[in-house]
Amino acid sequence: MESVFWSDGVAGLHPYVPGEQPQIANLVKLNTNENPFPPSAQVLAAIATAAQSGLQRYPDPQSSELVHALAVYHGLNAEQVFVGNGSDEVLAHAFRALYVKQKPLLMPDISYSFYGVYAALFGIPCQAVPLNSELVVDVNDYLAIDPNSVAGVVIANPNAPTGVAISLADIERVLQHFGQVAVLIDEAYVDFGAESACKLIEQYPNLLVVQTLSKSRSLAGLRIGFVLGASELIDGLVRVKDSFNSYPLDKIAQAAAVAAFADQAYFEQCRDAVMSERAVVAAALEARGFKVLPSATNFVFASHPAYQGRDLLAALRERAVLVRQFEKPRIADFLRISIGTVAQNQALIAALDDILAQ
Ligand code: PMP
Repeated sequence: MESVFWSDGVAGLHPYVPGEQPQIANLVKLNTNENPFPPSAQVLAAIATAAQSGLQRYPDPQSSELVHALAVYHGLNAEQVFVGNGSDEVLAHAFRALYVKQKPLLMPDISYSFYGVYAALFGIPCQAVPLNSELVVDVNDYLAIDPNSVAGVVIANPNAPTGVAISLADIERVLQHFGQVAVLIDEAYVDFGAESACKLIEQYPNLLVVQTLSKSRSLAGLRIGFVLGASELIDGLVRVKDSFNSYPLDKIAQAAAVAAFADQAYFEQCRDAVMSERAVVAAALEARGFKVLPSATNFVFASHPAYQGRDLLAALRERAVLVRQFEKPRIADFLRISIGTVAQNQALIAALDDILAQ
């Protein structure tokens, strides 16, 4: 459908496919990289307390307590922290604040799909840098580009949906080469085995690190993301935010997020369980003939030489197992499979055994 009432470019946007979030019980839901474990008991207690503490009043527009907690956790100042409704919103603010220029924004050709969506929404031209033959970001390809010709660089580390991480040394080379523009590193999955660029923030005034509480902190349902970086960059995001939604986080989300960062033991326990299950799932897939990319995330990206991705996706769906497949060149035969509980992962493997035996 198109409408004469719409702004230019809206017809080219695609509504989110609600099929990824079916509200049906008993599905083995391994399609959107949620944490299989619930939030910690301390988080649930903080939510109950927040709910009783005057929801008739607006929340703290600055999310001060959370910003302070994030600053302390990462060894930064409050001026170097920005929070929003999920990292999706935070990314949108960053794109608006930093990349609406006459030059293109550099990003991997296969990466998180929202980068392209936001660029299209805000009129930002993109320059896609292909992943190498192993489906990995090769920073040499970025270093070959004239830094004066671009508006900035966005890289997910680990990348999505491939799940492969690059080294901090490689990130540093990108930061140095593109010293005059903002380099955004999206670390949505960093806690599952990659090295965070947070420790480079004091050294590189052009670095922005985006993280989320949706994955390693089990809070996808509350929508909380944040950015860390030089105060000069954060100030740009704050200006965009204040002009758009000056109350980004509600009271419950603020309280839950503070409690999540206070419960380090639970975080480590869930993260370790996901990482050891990831090894089990990857080994089971390889034993069945799958090629599995080395994952530093809470999902694996795998393809089977005898099957098309869309056929495996459909066959798993018939067996009530939801995974993700992307109809994109080079990766169409891969499945992105989130790591679930032991029982969910076993159900996935049993369903695959059934399919492979047909
Ligand atoms: N970045 C990447 C690379 C992601 O995969 C996702 C989640 N799908 C996000 C950002 C957004 O996560 P959220 O909005 O839940 O914080």
